Amino acid sequence: MGWAVPAPLSQFKVGYALHQAAARQRAGPTPIMPENTSAPRVVLITGAASGIGAALARQLAREGAHLALHARDRTAQARMTTLVRECRDAGAVQCAVLYAELGSEAAARTLIDETHSTFGALDQVVSNAGYAHQGGVTDSSWSSLERAFAVMPATFAMLTRFALPFLEQSRRASIVALSSFVAHSYRADRLFAETAAAKAALEALARSAALELAPRGITVNCVVPGFTRKDRPPDPENAEAWRRASGDTPTGRVAEPDEVAAAIRFLLGLEARQITGALLHVDGGLTSR
Ligand code: NDP
Repeated sequence: MGWAVPAPLSQFKVGYALHQAAARQRAGPTPIMPENTSAPRVVLITGAASGIGAALARQLAREGAHLALHARDRTAQARMTTLVRECRDAGAVQCAVLYAELGSEAAARTLIDETHSTFGALDQVVSNAGYAHQGGVTDSSWSSLERAFAVMPATFAMLTRFALPFLEQSRRASIVALSSFVAHSYRADRLFAETAAAKAALEALARSAALELAPRGITVNCVVPGFTRKDRPPDPENAEAWRRASGDTPTGRVAEPDEVAAAIRFLLGLEARQITGALLHVDGGLTSR
């Protein structure tokens, strides 16, 4: 199946607000990258307006990273303003907010270029933006399949491609992509056919990229969440599904966004430099059954 550019360039909007604060002296444990305290790493996080992406931003801020925080559009502006304030207060040296509808080569290129032109460097990319669409193969349409592939695996591939010249200049270059348990666990009463296919393709691309980029000192890994609490409480019609999700998870509960973010943060850290091409499941045992 081919995939088309779903949004013409004319619809593509990108803007950013740069928020600077004086670098804060960090108290507490030894920084995760002791030899680089004078040059904070620059991390681009897609889909940072909520959930796992926002939790990761807060965690990386505590480590003093520069953060390029992506959101779809300005309907997320209030949330992004709050997130930037939280990150700044936690220690991020600089935060930039980038708005883009993902799902096209142009959007991926612009996100990478805007990040680099804002910070003058790019060390790490977290391809987190994504969604799940429940339904079987016969519920899918050509356009919804194209959309799933454009937003998830193809955007990951283009972010990787356009980031490469900048990542090659970094000593701590890493890419982490967010996959999903739905690519590993299939149940007739809970099918996510399109999403499973898109996330499986994402994992295949990530494993290929890991081998391709290992000689250049760039790690590429996937974090594979199980059911993870959303920022917004579920609609009444979904509340029962989330209760079942807890019951289906061997630990008896869904994950917190912070727990998934901690796994991403680990893979971005110096301790994980020898880990590449890995799938790190954070799912309370859901896919081990
Ligand atoms: P959220 O919905 O809170 O975050 C996902 C973000 O991605 C949102 O900010 C969303 O923007 C953004 N996004 C989605 N599509 C686009 C697009 N085309 N263009 C721009 N932005 C887009 O979900 P989570 O934090 O829970 O999910 C983060 C990742 O983890 C996703 O890839 C998801 O598939 C994966 N995951 C989550 C699970 C869970 O149970 N929560 C389970 C398994 C995997 P907007 O809000 O505007 O839609």
